[in-house]
Amino acid sequence: MSEPLLSVKGLTVSYGGVQAVKGIDFHLDEGEQVTLIGANGAGKTSTLRAITGLQPGKGEIRYAGQSLAAIPPWERMKQGLVMVPEGRGVFKRLTVLENLQSGAYLRRDRTQLATDMEEIFSTFPRLAERRHQTAGLLSGGEQQMLAMGRALLSKPRLLILDEPSMGLAPIMVETIFNTIARLSRDGMTLLLVEQNARLALQVTQRACVLESGTLSLQGPSASLLNDDALRKAYLGE
Ligand code: ATP
Repeated sequence: MSEPLLSVKGLTVSYGGVQAVKGIDFHLDEGEQVTLIGANGAGKTSTLRAITGLQPGKGEIRYAGQSLAAIPPWERMKQGLVMVPEGRGVFKRLTVLENLQSGAYLRRDRTQLATDMEEIFSTFPRLAERRHQTAGLLSGGEQQMLAMGRALLSKPRLLILDEPSMGLAPIMVETIFNTIARLSRDGMTLLLVEQNARLALQVTQRACVLESGTLSLQGPSASLLNDDALRKAYLGE
C-alpha cells in the first residue's frame, strides 16, 4: 500500500514546560478531507503549526514520502503544503489583486494562471468587484475569501484551513463552507480545523477529535455526526 500524503506520529508540541499536544497520531491520504475538531485550547492550531513548520514539535511528520524534520516552512509551502492561517494573514496594505498574485509568485504557467485567477473571481465575485481595493478595507469574510483564493492560486497539494469560520457573519460562513464543500467534491486534499463541528463534519470524509492535546476519537465524519457523546460535547445537543 502506498504511503499516506501526510502522516503524523507521536507528535508533541510544548510551550515552555507545558505540553499542548501530547503525542498524537493521524494521517491523511491524497484526495481525502479530514477535520480536526476540539474545544478551545485543545491543541488544534499547535498541531497545524507543527505540520507547516511554524512551531517546533517532537515526533515524526512525513509528507509526500519524506520526513519534514529538516525542511523549513517556505520549502514545505513550495512543495504544496499550504495553510490559510487563523486570522487569514492577508497583506492588508496590498490590493486584492496583489494579494492573489502573491499566492502565485512561483508559478510559470502564465496562461493557466490567468484562467485560474478568473475562476477565483467567479467563485468569489466580491473579490472581483474589489480587486483594486486594499485588502485591509475588506470585511472579515472577504479577507477569508482572499486568503483562500491566494492559497488556491498556489496550487496546493494539501490545503490546510485553520478556523475559516472564525468571527464571520452566518451568511459569510455559508459562502466559505459552500466553497470548501465544492473543493471537497473536486477531490482537493484538505485538513480542516474548525470550531463549528457540524459544518466541518458535513464537508469532510474523516474526523479526528482532539481533547486536551490527545486524540480521543477518530472516524468517518458521517458516523461522528451521529455519535451521541460527540453530539452532546461538540454539536450543542
Ligand atoms: P483555539 O481553538 O482556541 O485556537 P486550539 O485547539 O487551536 O484552540 P492551541 O492554539 O493549539 O489550541 O493551544 C493549545 C494550548 O497551548 C493552549 O492551552 C494554549 O494556551 C497554549 N498555547 C498556544 N500557543 C501558545 C504560545 N505561543 N505560548 C504559550 N502557550 C501557548
